[in-house]
Amino acid sequence: KLYNQVQDLKGSIRVYCRVRPFLSEQSHYLSSVDHIEEGNITINTPSKYGKGRKSFSFNKVFGPSATQGDVFSDMQPLIRSVLDGYNVCIFAYGQTGSGKTFTMSGPKELTEKSQGVNYRALRDLFFLAEQRKDTFRYDVAVQMFHVTLFYSSRFFLKSIATLEIRNSSQTGLNVPDANLVSVSSTVDVIDLMNLGYKNRAVGATALNDRSSRSHSCLTVHVQGRDLTSGTIYRGCMHLVDLAGSERVDKSEVTGDRLKEAQHINKSLSALGDVIASLAQKNPHVPYRNSKLTQLLQDSLGGQAKTLMFVHISPEPEAVSETISTLKFAERVA
Ligand code: ADP
Ligand code: MG
Repeated sequence: KLYNQVQDLKGSIRVYCRVRPFLSEQSHYLSSVDHIEEGNITINTPSKYGKGRKSFSFNKVFGPSATQGDVFSDMQPLIRSVLDGYNVCIFAYGQTGSGKTFTMSGPKELTEKSQGVNYRALRDLFFLAEQRKDTFRYDVAVQMFHVTLFYSSRFFLKSIATLEIRNSSQTGLNVPDANLVSVSSTVDVIDLMNLGYKNRAVGATALNDRSSRSHSCLTVHVQGRDLTSGTIYRGCMHLVDLAGSERVDKSEVTGDRLKEAQHINKSLSALGDVIASLAQKNPHVPYRNSKLTQLLQDSLGGQAKTLMFVHISPEPEAVSETISTLKFAERVA
């Protein structure tokens, strides 16, 4: 195995936290984050929680000044292990506006420096595959899809863009109406992802009266063949930008909107239950309680590696959501 360092992490669950910077300068002095130290984050809690401070520990905490490059380089060994046949799931969790999409994809006005995990991951996998081309032959297939949650408790799965690099073999995940399309370079992948995001925007408008929130997933299937021994390695990576985790205020939202929001919260807590029982090595893992965990079942648990990446906003107005996000994360750690 080429990446011995990730062998130790086999089957493990990691939890990271990222605090985004303030979006406007003014509120700087009001941060709900008291301080960050190594894997610890301390929050200034309002009186409702017993005024004071509360600390949470994770495998890693990224402060507001962490760059996209800092974040990626930490995740790189995990991502690279896909080429050695591991299954990897990376989830971005947090309330709307906390920076999930920023981490996974980047900001709206994308530059090379601001590219998120998905672009960097694909570029890195291509780079590595090229470096190893004398000893390994890699086939890679990528697909993007959304799990949209309807208030009626039905779910809707849409594969918005898919592609294939050389001849790929698809394993595990079974997404209805997912076609695979050929590409052969990072440029193709970026074109495809841009198309995917455009389609998502269109889809969101069309579905607006029924549902506005969904989990977005970019899945990368890799098959590697050792050219000397003929050994085949199959790995799969899911990069999941989850629907916003905010609780709904029953006084503000009613009817279908309320049901939809409750449904999303249910699906996120079902995901939390799965990860928590994997972390506790429970013999029973409740995969069947949500569509998302059913879809990702082959890549959660067993030899698979999971990274729950929680995001928080620094604004004091968001502190209740911040605390509930950190509590969620602490439970799965
Ligand atoms: P979410 O996907 O959780 O709803 P976004 O990723 O859309 O949140 O982030 C909300 C806003 O904050 C966007 O304008 C985004 O560009 C910005 N933002 C998020 N994280 C960062 C960061 N680490 N650095 C700079 N801007 C950020
Ligand atoms: Mg988002």
